[in-house]
Amino acid sequence: MNLKEKHSALDIQKIRKDFPILSRKVNGKSLIYLDSGATAQKPKQVIDAITKYYSEQNANIHRGVHTLSQEITSAYENARATIQKHINAKHTHEIIFTSGTTESINLVATTFGKWLKPGDEILVTAMEHHSNILPWQQLCEEKSAVLKVIPINEKGELLLDEYKKLISSETKLISITHVSNTLGTINPVKEIISIAHAKNIPVLVDGAQAIPHMRINVQDLDTDFYCFSGHKVYGPTGVGILYGKEQWLRKLPNYQVGGGTIKTVSFAKTEYADIPLRFEAGTPNIEGGIGLAAAIDYVNEIGLENISVYEHELLEYATKKLSAIEGLKIIGTAKNKASVISFVIHGIHPYDMGIILDQLGIAVRTGHHCTQPIMDKFGLKGTVRVSLAFYNTKEEINKLVKGIIKAKEMLK
Ligand SMILES: *Cc1c(COP(=O)(O)O)cnc(C)c1O
Repeated sequence: MNLKEKHSALDIQKIRKDFPILSRKVNGKSLIYLDSGATAQKPKQVIDAITKYYSEQNANIHRGVHTLSQEITSAYENARATIQKHINAKHTHEIIFTSGTTESINLVATTFGKWLKPGDEILVTAMEHHSNILPWQQLCEEKSAVLKVIPINEKGELLLDEYKKLISSETKLISITHVSNTLGTINPVKEIISIAHAKNIPVLVDGAQAIPHMRINVQDLDTDFYCFSGHKVYGPTGVGILYGKEQWLRKLPNYQVGGGTIKTVSFAKTEYADIPLRFEAGTPNIEGGIGLAAAIDYVNEIGLENISVYEHELLEYATKKLSAIEGLKIIGTAKNKASVISFVIHGIHPYDMGIILDQLGIAVRTGHHCTQPIMDKFGLKGTVRVSLAFYNTKEEINKLVKGIIKAKEMLK
């Protein structure tokens, strides 16, 4: 698909009406929400699904014979199937519900990590979110293993030749982000995975920033693990997904154990349940699973291709407009980007810019975006980050540009 030649088929004004929060005022101004990379807003379809769950369906799952419990168990399992289809996983039991990307990564680090030996190596990249650094860093400290980092260039692109050189006979796992939450870079994960698989090394992909913007096909990527959060794809907070290939999930040792993870328990011996339940201890976030499936249905109704095309149009428009502001420098200029733009302005602290934009009703993120190593690489304390979703418009970007120019005047 050539994104540049396509134009959006979306009716954005109609879509905006699905998101109640977009019509509220902030500091007396119409809200301009440009922080979807931190968390996306929720359409009424998701809010309604959650309301319906609590007003008509609430019961515990997998436990009761009564009607409510049976109904919600099948709704929850249908939600799992919706997610399986959405990312084209082969089996529903390859979809594990977690509390979010962070827990999904910790689950793999904790379980897979039990097999690590001193001197083993884990590879991550220089553009990871802290959630895809710290679980591995802690594991490597515990196991006397080594965490190695694939470097990036000045544009914020991975250095694939360096990656190939870093792989060794000690490399046990590669954990990479699909899309950088700070730089917007879309990494060539399929190629990275095929290079790793040629050496029989499994790969985990942090898809937190990819899932809202593009179609994910885990079988086509051939990834071993894929993680994402509900709240960044227009679903609720507190729910996320770990996809794992069946053969990996069956092999991994237990994570948290407790109610729901077993077949039979006695003090002499416990027999554990099959996947996925073996990894889902305790009463799960039922409303989260239901709400996430409603979000996935919503996104599919709009169409991921339509979303990609429109967001790319917004990205190009915003990049052009922002670049024209004197003293503004975009951090992250990779050839292949999602609709995330980080920037700094000469002589102005990102925090001050964020405060003034907020006065104008414009929500942007400022700071290190949970990626301090990227800030170190570029010699920065922080950036202003604009992350665009399909409910944003060019008019909003124009207002952002005006706001930035006004803030520059005030701060000079
Ligand atoms: C947000 C984010 C995470 C962490 O997600 P949580 O929902 O906070 O668990 C991890 N990686 C990336 C790239 C992210 O953007």
